Amino acid sequence: MFDTLSERLEGILGRLRGRGRLSAADVDQALREIRAALLEADVHVRVVRSLVDGVRSQLVGEELARSLSPGQQVVRAVHRELIRALGGESLRLTYASPPPTVILLAGLQGSGKTTTAAKLARWFRQQGHQPLLVGADLQRPAAVEQLRILAEQAQVPFFSQPTDPVQVARAGRQEAERLGRDVVIVDTAGRLAIDAELMDEVRRISEAVDPHYTFLVVDAMTGQDAVGTAEAFHATLTLDGLILTKLDGDARGGAALSVKEVVGKPIAFAATGERLADFDLFHPDRMASRILGMGDVLSLIEQAEREMDRDVALKGATALVEGRFTLEDFLTQLQQVKRLGSLGGLLSLLPGVPKELKQANAAIDDREVARVEAIIRSMTPAERIDPSIIDGSRRQRIARGSGTSTQEVNQLLRQFKEAQQLMRQPGLLAGMLGGRGKLA
Ligand code: GDP
Repeated sequence: MFDTLSERLEGILGRLRGRGRLSAADVDQALREIRAALLEADVHVRVVRSLVDGVRSQLVGEELARSLSPGQQVVRAVHRELIRALGGESLRLTYASPPPTVILLAGLQGSGKTTTAAKLARWFRQQGHQPLLVGADLQRPAAVEQLRILAEQAQVPFFSQPTDPVQVARAGRQEAERLGRDVVIVDTAGRLAIDAELMDEVRRISEAVDPHYTFLVVDAMTGQDAVGTAEAFHATLTLDGLILTKLDGDARGGAALSVKEVVGKPIAFAATGERLADFDLFHPDRMASRILGMGDVLSLIEQAEREMDRDVALKGATALVEGRFTLEDFLTQLQQVKRLGSLGGLLSLLPGVPKELKQANAAIDDREVARVEAIIRSMTPAERIDPSIIDGSRRQRIARGSGTSTQEVNQLLRQFKEAQQLMRQPGLLAGMLGGRGKLA
C-alpha cells in the first residue's frame, strides 16, 4: 500500500532528518523532490500544489521549535499536510432514531461494491449493531447470489426479491423495521462505465429509501479515474463519503490523496484485501503515518482486539514466556494470526520494518499457511508436543498425510526450532509484548 510514494518520501525526508541546519535552498530542494514524488504517485496537480504550498507555509511561518531538528520539522509539516489531504478527521457515524440507519452503496462494476457491502455489514455487527444486507443489484443475476453467500460469511441476514431494484430497496427497509434491524445496507447495480440509466436507477432507489448515508465504492488502483468517477456520481447523488477498495494493491496512492480535495467528500472506509476482515474506518492520521514509514501500531492493536480471541492469545503468550511453546500452540496461534489478515499487511502496520522483510513476507500467501497447517494436523498429539521424536518414517507418514514432501516437513520443523530458540532469548518477548498490555 502506497509503497512507491512511501519509499520516495522516506528517502527525501530521511536525508533531512539528521541535519542540524537547513538552508532555504535545502528546503526548496526538498519541496521540489516532494512535488515530483507526489506527481509520480498520480496525485492530482491541484492537490500537489496545495500540499507543497502548505508544507512551505508551515516551515516559513513557524518559529523553530526547540525540541525538533529542522529535518524533523519538515517531516512534521509533510505529515500534517498529508493528513489534511486525506481528509483530516475520520468519519463519525451517527445513527438514526428511530432506526434503521439506511446506507446506500453505489459504484461501478468491479469496484468491489458487493464485497464491500458484506465487509461493511460485518463491521457494523462488530460495532454491536444488527445490520441487514439488501441486494438491489438485479442487473447481474450472479450479484444477488454473491451477496447472499457473503452475507452468510459475515453472519448478517440478507434480503432480496426478483422484482425491480427500487421495489427491493423499499421492501428491504420495511423488512429491517419488521425484524428490528438497526442498520440497512443497500447494494445497488454497477455498470462498466457511468451511463444515464445507471445514474437514474440509483437516484430512484435513493429517493425511495431516503438513505442517511450514501457511499460511493471506488477502486483505488484506478487512480485519477476513481476521482473522475466520484465527481460524476457526486453530481447526481449527494455523496456522504467514499469507500476506497483495493488499497492493498495501490502502490501510488493518487486516488486516496486526491479525492477529498477534488470531490470535496472524505474517504469514509478503506478496504485492504479480499477477505471480509480487511476493512476499517479510514483514519487520515494513521494513513499519513504509514505513508511516512512511521507505522500504524494503533490499527494493529485494534485489529488484534477485534479479531483475536484474547484467552487464546494469552495462553500462547504465556506458553512462550514459560518456554513450553509446542507445535500445537503454534497451530492455534497461526489460526489466530490468520484472522488478522495477511502477514504482509500486518508487517506494514509496524514501524521500522525493513522494506525487504515486508516484501518477502507479502509473498507468504494463504496457501503457505494452509500447507503448514496441513503438516501440523498430520502429526500425532505426542509429535506436536515433542517434535524431537519425529524420525525418518514418521516424517514420511506426515508428508504423505499432508500432501507435502519430507523436505517441507523438515523445513517446518527447522523453522519452528529456530523460532523457539529465538523466543527464549531474554528480553525479546518483553519487548514484543510491551505496550500491548490489553492483549498480553
Ligand atoms: P462489484 O462488481 O463492484 O460488486 O465487485 P466485487 O465485489 O465482485 O469485487 C470484484 C473483485 O475485487 C473481487 O474479486 C473481489 O474479491 C476483489 N476485491 C474487492 N475488494 C478488494 C480489496 O480491497 N482488495 C483486493 N485485493 N481485492 C478486492
